[in-house]
Amino acid sequence: MLSRTLAATLCAVGAWVGGCQAKPAPAPRPNLVLIVADDLGYADVGFQGCEDIPTPHIDRIAREGVRFSNGYVTGAVCGPSRAGLITGRYQDRFGSSRNPTVDPSVPNNGVPRTERTIAELLEPAGYNTFAVGKWHLGTFPGLHPRDRGFDEFFGFLSGGHEYFPDRLTLGGLSDVKKQWDWYRTKILHNGERVVIDDYLTDELSDAAAAYIDRKAGDGPFFVYLAYNAPHTPLQATDEYLARFAHIEDGKRRTYAAMVSAMDDGVGRVLDAIERAGVRDNTLVVFLSDNGGAPNNASRNTPLRGRKGQPWEGGVRVPFAMRWPDAFGGGLVYEHPVSSLDICGTIVAAAGDQATGALLPGKPLDGVDLVPYLNGSVRGRPHDVLYWRWYDQGRYALRVGDDKLIVSEEPSEFDGLFDLSADIGERRDLIEVRGGDAAAMRSKAEAWMEDLVPPAYPGLQSWKPGG
Ligand code: CA
Repeated sequence: MLSRTLAATLCAVGAWVGGCQAKPAPAPRPNLVLIVADDLGYADVGFQGCEDIPTPHIDRIAREGVRFSNGYVTGAVCGPSRAGLITGRYQDRFGSSRNPTVDPSVPNNGVPRTERTIAELLEPAGYNTFAVGKWHLGTFPGLHPRDRGFDEFFGFLSGGHEYFPDRLTLGGLSDVKKQWDWYRTKILHNGERVVIDDYLTDELSDAAAAYIDRKAGDGPFFVYLAYNAPHTPLQATDEYLARFAHIEDGKRRTYAAMVSAMDDGVGRVLDAIERAGVRDNTLVVFLSDNGGAPNNASRNTPLRGRKGQPWEGGVRVPFAMRWPDAFGGGLVYEHPVSSLDICGTIVAAAGDQATGALLPGKPLDGVDLVPYLNGSVRGRPHDVLYWRWYDQGRYALRVGDDKLIVSEEPSEFDGLFDLSADIGERRDLIEVRGGDAAAMRSKAEAWMEDLVPPAYPGLQSWKPGG
C-alpha cells in the first residue's frame, strides 16, 4: 500500500494513476456563496459559449472549479425552482409547485415551516447567514428570510423588481394598489424599508461583498445572493448599455447590459472572498433558476424550449461550482446534477449539527457532489431526475440519457428523447421504445405518490384594487 506521503508525492508529479484525483477531505464548515441568476439563458454566459456577452467573472467560477454540462433545476419557473433549491427537496413534496402569490394576506404563500431551508440547517452549525435580493419564497409574516434561518436580509419579497431607485416608491406590499406594482416596493433591509442610490443589481452585489468583508474571520458564512437579473423588466444603465452599442437588437442589448452588470457584481463578490482569505474553503455556486424566458431576449441554444416548458430549455441551466479545498479546477462534469445537490453538498460539509437539523422523515433529495467531483466515486449522482407541472397536468423525468415528457392531455411537449444523441429533443422515440417509456412512467408514478397539490394560489391570483 502506498503511504499517504508517497501517494501525495506521486500525485504531485502525475506518476500515480490510480486515485490521484482524490483529495483529502475538505476542511469542515466551508463558507457557501450561492449566486442565482433569474431567467438567464443556457447559452448566455461565456462558460456556456456565449459570444456577444462577455462574463469573465462568472466564468472564473467554472474555470477554477467545475462546469456542469447537464445541470438542472427542479422547476421551470422562479418560485418552484427556488423552493427546491433552498430546501434540497423536490418542492412538489410540500406544495410549492407554482409561483406563489405575493399577496401578504395569504397565509402559507411560500415554503412551509414544516420544511427546513439551507439557512435553517446551517444555523446550528454556527453559520452567519445573509439573504440578498429576490426572495419569492413567502411574503406572509413568518415566511420572510429572517424567519427562515437568515440572520440578515437585504432585498425584496416579490418575484421580480424594478431596477432604478427612483422607481421604488412604495412603502411595502400593503401599498400595492394594482397588479405588478409589487415590483416597485422600497428595498427591505432586515425589517426596515430603505432608500437605495444605485441600480438594483449593483446594490445587491455590493451588499453581498460588504457582508463578506464584515464577517471575515467571524466564523463560517452563507450568502444567498439571489439576483432578479436578467428577469424583466429590461432595464439597464447607460454605462452598461454603452458596452453593447454594437448589438442592434434593442432588447438583446439591454439584456446583455443587465447580464454584464451582474457579472461585474459577481467579480466584486469573488474579490471579497479573496480579501477575506477564504477562497479555498468557500463553496461558490452559480446557476440560473430556470431557462431563458421568451420576453427577455435570452438564448437557450442548443436546447429546445424556454422558461416554463418541460423541454431542456426550461430546466437545464448554466451551472458552475468552485471549491478549491474539495476538488480541482477546469473540470467539466457531464453526468446530470441537480440544484438539489447544493443543499446536499453543503449539509454534508457542515457536519453533524447541520445533518442533525434535518427533519425526521424528510430526507434530502440532493446528494453530496464532492465524492463525484474529486474522483473518489464514479458513476452518476442520480439514477433519475423528476419534474412535475401540476397545473398543466404534466411531468417529466430523466433516466440515464433518456428523457420522457408525459401530459394528461396530449400536447406538443410529449415524447421520449435520447439526450445523448438529440439534445434538441426533436426525435420522439416513443413509437420504437414503448417498453422503456412504460418503465419510466412507472417510476414517475411511484415518485408522484409522495407529492401533494399546490399549497397556495398562484402569482396571478392577486389583483389588488381590481
Ligand atoms: Ca426565474
